[in-house]
Parts: sequence; structure tokens; C-alpha cells
Amino acid sequence: MKTLICDHIHEDAMVYAKDNLDIVSPSEIRDIDYEDAEAVIVRIFPMSRENIDRMPKLKIIAKHGVGVDNIDLEYAASKGILVTNTPLANVNSVAELAVALTLACARKITMSNNSIKKGLNQVAPFSLTGYELNNRVLGLVGLGRIGLSIAQKLKNGFNMQVAVYDPYASKEICEKEGFTKYETLEELLTLSDVVNISVPLTKETENLISAQELSKMKKNAILINTSRGRIIDEQALLASLKEGHLFGAAIDAFAEEPVNRDNPLLSCDNFIGTPHNGANTEDALIRMGKGAVNEVVRYIKNQEPFSKLV
Ligand code: NAD
Repeated sequence: MKTLICDHIHEDAMVYAKDNLDIVSPSEIRDIDYEDAEAVIVRIFPMSRENIDRMPKLKIIAKHGVGVDNIDLEYAASKGILVTNTPLANVNSVAELAVALTLACARKITMSNNSIKKGLNQVAPFSLTGYELNNRVLGLVGLGRIGLSIAQKLKNGFNMQVAVYDPYASKEICEKEGFTKYETLEELLTLSDVVNISVPLTKETENLISAQELSKMKKNAILINTSRGRIIDEQALLASLKEGHLFGAAIDAFAEEPVNRDNPLLSCDNFIGTPHNGANTEDALIRMGKGAVNEVVRYIKNQEPFSKLV
């Protein structure tokens, strides 16, 4: 089955693909290959209507990763093309980054690092005083795969109390995990020391955290977002950080990506930004790459996909 690997994937996954499929690697794809392609593996390559039309024999689109904003799902479905993704492959990596960012904000790690690199001539200055996570409240907005993993790590590893706002999450899972569920976002924001955002970007979640929500947060709270830009209003976040209402904030996903170097958040001392690095670990890249290849292998063997989207 002719499979185009449209974007670079981890070397281990390439070896697995070469051993199991008839592949064309990203650097070798010629126009003519699109006509014969029966399967594609994509990370960011746009599977738009136009590109799907260039591949009349296409049977499966295997997404490397979770977000399928680069795939026209409706059009693929109308053509009877199977679309799969790898939803579990990067959960732990994103959750570990969220924990790292939480600690980095609470202990002013990047600020401390910047200070000594700029020649700070003092030990343990008050300006770099942080706070402990122990027994503080983690307010989780979104109790999905990543949110749950973050909450478990911060509860079990750092003894945080976990409060949840997720209208779609069951009470049972909160009870089982020892989390407290809240019915409104406002309640959650007013009682949390660290607010973590782990929701998909939808019409409902766009600007979910704007000036009004930020003003409800406790003074000296921390805000972490590893999900998608545009869920937080960046202008409002900047104002809140500058006026010293928030202790710190960290985001891995910006409204505009790659992040613009002129983004004023980047010049804010109590802000930490990372370039959509959540899933950027060797471990997750291997799992995503092999997982996507495996969906094509399963298709050839007439086996059910692990994660079918359409
Ligand atoms: P998921 O679908 O398992 O969980 C999302 C949760 O959000 C669900 O429990 C859902 O009920 C909840 N939710 C939806 N709308 C809500 C609302 N209005 N208020 C509160 N909760 C709401 O998804 P996931 O795998 O946990 O991923 C979460 C986010 O992380 C996604 O946006 C994904 O794109 C992003 N992500 C980022 C990276 C990265 O590199 N930074 C990597 C992978 C995923």
C-alpha cells in the first residue's frame, strides 16, 4: 500500500514504517506520488479538500498527534477516507511540561536564571521569593486525558488539593480521584492558587479566560496553559501580570504561532513562554510516529483502528 510520509517523523518510526509499508519519505515525494497514494501520514501537512482531491486512491489519513485542524474531516468522511490519530501518545509529555511550568512559576526559576546570568550579586534575594505547592489548590479547567494526568502528578507528587471545572466530566471520576468538582468557572477561579487550562479550542472555549475571569483569580495565583492559544486573552493576561495581580503565568500555545518576538508577554518578567513544546519529547515523538504508522499497518491487515475519527 503506497504510503506518503508527508512530514518528518522520528527515525525509529521511519524504520518501523520502512519495515512494514511501501513508503515515500518526505524528501522524496514527487507530484506523481500523490496520484498513487493510498495512505498518508501527516503532522502538519494540510489535508485540505484540494490535497485530498490530488489523491484519488487515498484510503487512510493517519494523523501523527492529536489535533486535526489540518485535516478536512468532513470532506474525508464524504469520500469514505478513514482518519485516525494518536490521542494517548503525548499525554504524559504535555502533563510533565505543565508540572514543570507550574514549578517554574511558583519558584521563579526562569526569573532567577535570568537574574544570575545578568550578574545578580546577592543570594536568595526577596525579589525571587517563591511559594510551595504543598497543600495549595490546583484549579483544573478541563479534566480530559492531559488534565487528569497533570492533576494526578500534582496531587500525588506535590500534595496539592484538586478542584475541577469541566461541565462534561463525571462526578464519579472526581470522587474516584479525590478531586472536588465545581459547577461554575467563577467558583473555581476564586479558590485556586494555580489554574491549569487543559481544554480544546472551541467556540465555547475561545477567550474563556479574559479580563473578567482573570480579575476573579486570587491575587498571587498562577495561570498555566498548555492547550491552545486564543483560550486566554493575551492582552488581558499581560495587564494582569503587569499590575501584579497574578504571581506568574506560563503558556505553551500562543494565539499566533510561531510566537511573534514582539509579543509584549515575552518582555514580562513573571511570564514564561515555550514554543508549543508540550509533545516535543523523544518519547512522545516515537509513540506518535509509531502509532500513526501502526494505524496504516492495521488497516492493511483489516484490523480495527485504535483511534478512528471518521
Ligand atoms: P481531551 O479531549 O481528553 O480533554 C479535554 C477536556 O476539556 C474534556 O474533559 C472536556 O470535557 C473538557 N472541556 C471541553 N470544553 C470545556 C469547557 N468549556 N470548560 C471546561 N472543560 C471543557 O483533550 P486532551 O488530550 O486532554 O487535550 C487538551 C488540550 O491540549 C487540547 O486542546 C489539545 O489540543 C492540547 N494539546 C496540546 C499539546 C501541546 O503540545 N501543548 C499537545 C497535545 C494536546
